[in-house]
Amino acid sequence: MPRVFVSDFIPGDLLEPLETLAEVEVWAGKERVPRETLLERLSGCDGWLSMLSDTIDVELLDSTPTLRVISQMSVGVDNIDVDACRDHGISVGHTPDVLTETTADTAFALIGAAVRRLPEGEAIVKSGAWGPWDPWHFLSGDLHGATLGIVGMGRIGQAIARRARGFNMPVLYTARTTKDVPGAIRLDLVGLLERADIVVIAVPLAVETRGMIGRAELGMMKETAILVNIARGPIVDADALVEALAKGEIGGAALDVTDPEPLPPDHPLLQFPNCLVVPHIGSATIPARRAMASLAVANLVAFLRREPMPAWLDGSAEQPFGDYPASSSPSESSDS
Ligand code: NAP
Repeated sequence: MPRVFVSDFIPGDLLEPLETLAEVEVWAGKERVPRETLLERLSGCDGWLSMLSDTIDVELLDSTPTLRVISQMSVGVDNIDVDACRDHGISVGHTPDVLTETTADTAFALIGAAVRRLPEGEAIVKSGAWGPWDPWHFLSGDLHGATLGIVGMGRIGQAIARRARGFNMPVLYTARTTKDVPGAIRLDLVGLLERADIVVIAVPLAVETRGMIGRAELGMMKETAILVNIARGPIVDADALVEALAKGEIGGAALDVTDPEPLPPDHPLLQFPNCLVVPHIGSATIPARRAMASLAVANLVAFLRREPMPAWLDGSAEQPFGDYPASSSPSESSDS
């Protein structure tokens, strides 16, 4: 039987289809699997169900010559050297679509909370500083009708745009290619930053997007504008964001993702009442996480059956299809 390592807990009922095809070992530690242990556990494995917190680089791939397939339980694959996987003959799967709506919900929750200053309001209530009703106290901008700028109009960006329609928000976006999204206007990044009341980051982390929102870009935003990052922390230069918040160059920020993660409790970003930070919970609902785990398992099952993975990652090694050569097991034939 082929061998598969799973980097974190997956509910047993979701693993069953894989267990009929492979010998499966699931990491049961409370901490992330340490690198040395990971290399040991992957030794002799054909497949790996990985998490976004695993670093999948050339060094690791060189040490795991039997590995033929990696199925990651996330849509983002910035932790994976995909070119190196292709060069090592490793097919990669991921979990697009099944978390799109949930992540867009989280983006909208962050947008609403930041625009209407909910964390600041809650802090006032909890500190006992809530005074008599005052018509001019604790004001904010409006959410409805605000101009929403979406950086990255892919699956999640478009799901955010759909929600914005219900709030009568004009939508601007940047992407590499034009999208057919009703009412949305494509601009370059500068045009979007200058006009948007809310800027949401929804691009993948890649060489071209690392540090995409830095000092210059934050300086182009309106003084009242809110920056929301739902994608990956390093897309926003954290030092530049601290500086922009300290100088009042932007109205506030709401971050599901940060650089680094986890953000240490003494990080300067946490001193600003108008900077809301949550711990990378974009897709953290029970239905979304089960769907992601299920798709990650389905990718492995399909690969081991030599069928097309439901979510193969373009750029990784092509999958071997069809029957195994007679008298060889999947793990034997996978070396061919
Ligand atoms: P997607 O469908 O691939 O969409 C990505 C979008 O970004 C596309 O519109 C793409 O444009 C655009 N883009 C890529 N590079 C760009 C660049 N250099 N400049 C401008 N636009 C660029 O991906 P998705 O499913 O929406 O997910 C997006 C990212 O969200 C993921 O990669 C992941 O990192 C993150 N994410 C985070 C969470 C969370 O828990 N916070 C959950 C899910 C996903 P083209 O279409 O024109 O190529």
